[in-house]
Amino acid sequence: MPSLRETKPVSYGVPDQFLELERDYKRQAKAAKTKGKSGAGGQCGAQKAKGSSSAAEQDEKSGVDEDEVDQLASDYDLDDELLKLAENGARKKRSAARGSGKGEKGERARKDRLSALPDEILLQILNCTSSPASLLSLSIVSRRFHKLLTSPERDDVWEEARARAGLPGMTGGGFTESQLAELVYGTICFTCGKTALRMPDVFLRKRLCKSCRETHIVRLDTLDDSFGPKRLRQALRDCTLQSRQSPSQPKKLSKTHYGFLPHVQQELGRLLVLDQKDINDQEAEYAAAFAKQHQLALQGRGIAVARSPTDSSRSAYVFDFGRKEDEFGPRVKAYVAKRREKLAALEKESGALFEAIIRLDKEKEQHRSDPETGQPPARREDLERRVLADAETDFQKSDLVETWLTDRFVNLGSVVTDEEWPELRPRVLKVLDSVRKKRQSLELKLQQAARRDALKRYYEQLRQNQLSPAARTFFPLFADFLLFDSTRTLWEPKDAVVDESAYNAARDAMEDEINEWRVDVRFYALQQILGCTLDIPQDEELSSDQDAYDAYDDGFFDLLTSALVCSIKPCVCSAEKRPTFFGSLPDLLDHQHEIHGDLKPSMTELYTKKALTKQPKFRFSLPLEVANAVVALCELCELDEETATPGDVDEFFEDDETARLQWYNAPRETHKKKERDWRVIMCRIKRDVDEAASARTPHLIAPPALRLFASRPDSE
Ligand SMILES: [Zn+2]
Ligand SMILES: [Zn+2]
Repeated sequence: MPSLRETKPVSYGVPDQFLELERDYKRQAKAAKTKGKSGAGGQCGAQKAKGSSSAAEQDEKSGVDEDEVDQLASDYDLDDELLKLAENGARKKRSAARGSGKGEKGERARKDRLSALPDEILLQILNCTSSPASLLSLSIVSRRFHKLLTSPERDDVWEEARARAGLPGMTGGGFTESQLAELVYGTICFTCGKTALRMPDVFLRKRLCKSCRETHIVRLDTLDDSFGPKRLRQALRDCTLQSRQSPSQPKKLSKTHYGFLPHVQQELGRLLVLDQKDINDQEAEYAAAFAKQHQLALQGRGIAVARSPTDSSRSAYVFDFGRKEDEFGPRVKAYVAKRREKLAALEKESGALFEAIIRLDKEKEQHRSDPETGQPPARREDLERRVLADAETDFQKSDLVETWLTDRFVNLGSVVTDEEWPELRPRVLKVLDSVRKKRQSLELKLQQAARRDALKRYYEQLRQNQLSPAARTFFPLFADFLLFDSTRTLWEPKDAVVDESAYNAARDAMEDEINEWRVDVRFYALQQILGCTLDIPQDEELSSDQDAYDAYDDGFFDLLTSALVCSIKPCVCSAEKRPTFFGSLPDLLDHQHEIHGDLKPSMTELYTKKALTKQPKFRFSLPLEVANAVVALCELCELDEETATPGDVDEFFEDDETARLQWYNAPRETHKKKERDWRVIMCRIKRDVDEAASARTPHLIAPPALRLFASRPDSE
């Protein structure tokens, strides 16, 4: 039979492609399975290990995984005996419960001494013997221990153990003592329950396994657009608990800040809600104002915004009042401020704990004994015996610390023989000498610091006893006061004493130096100001005779062109959110007393030879760029730069409620933002000048160009 057309038989079999996919899938599944068995932490399951898994299981798990094992986590061999007892007890209890023989049960129960003890006595024992690490191990031995130890009332047991271990507390934000122990000494990832032996992130208060670190820790400075609008980015950072431990090197503090992704997302959610509320409010407010202005405009009293009443479309004003970079409304602002304050306290606590952990780690490293035998090196022990027995030296056991424990010559090599000893003795004593010297100089520095602290009281007294407010303003900061020769004699010498009589004896000399400082500070300020206005190079002496400048009186210092910028870092006037302070010399000095009163002099100021050559250092300046901007500002405000004061500019801005100043050629985009507060612009300039000067390739910034956005002056 001829067919109508030739047909190709249709195949309903399995396509090869599918088979290949299936094979592939099986291969992957197998690989994942073996990987899972070996514990090489692939994906994070939702496995909850806390409490349910036995210590033995955990030991098994902890044998593998993780690039680096943190020192402190291995601490839990400390109270081995106690742990063994408890484990035995738990095991026996379990098997006894399973077994049926009555007599046997009774016998075992008697043997299980630790578990048989009443809670109070057990806690007493734990209270004086345990380290946080062994408490932690005990808490997962049995249900009873877990319940006993992790109840909130038991925080005191943990607290004492923690204090014994030399760690500071960290209770902010509802963090409990047992959680802290889990953080520092635990072995389990807080999010997925897998083994996590590396040093935890103390700042984020999380112990995380490798894969959880990779998925949950984010750099806060490079958040992309999935984290909401850009203008909220800084607010988001501020609202997030920040870590300075880099995930790759948890024992170092990095400059980059990291956050825990779920935290960041939670905060983003909150901010977006608040921001929307702010926007709604503002739009409503603006709509009302717009309607009013529109009406006024119709009545012929023109106001800048309402000048084109034809353009009344919604988009026109939304655009104008739309938010710019770093701008947000009162709700967001208040939330950020509140949140940052709270987090700052937490971060401070974490910082202290971090330092303590690193310190303990180091100490452990130093006392590390021979890894094979667990004993201190025989060579060192032998040398210690010889040194202590040496009648010609006075080294004590207390001298056998620090470098002595790590010095290669002392610790490495074979035991010194009696023949070798006389020859090696000088070298050994040299090591001890340097240990002692180092300790003595450290002690001296500590004593000096204590004396400096003691001087603060007399400094305050001296300042309060000044006759006029101006004299209290023109007064050195405590940090500078400490550098005076007359003051130095009270804290620097080994045998110096700070007391009433020493202070009284030095007082006249101090007053003299303060008076000298007053002349110098004015002269320095003058140099800064005239250096900008008179085109004189700043390193050139203006005139050796300071009296020649008598004409530059208080009135001169009050001028806008004489305003100076605070150069103490970090100088932030938190109220105005300004990176530094800008104002007249007296205002600046007042500012420094108020904000930087607790400033500590740097080590170089205190101890280098350069510090001793009498060259007072002042902590303010007037960069040429700022001086130029001031002149430009006067022009824009139509003020005479020869007579204008900062108050005149303030008045100008008060008179024109819409006036805003812009630094339109600022090197960074955020600094081009229009500002009502003109001082903010000056501070930005100073900040960028400094940044450019201290950049890897130091450079100058372009002369600042300012633009003023003001309503058109009245036509009358
Ligand atoms: Zn994990
Ligand atoms: Zn300041």
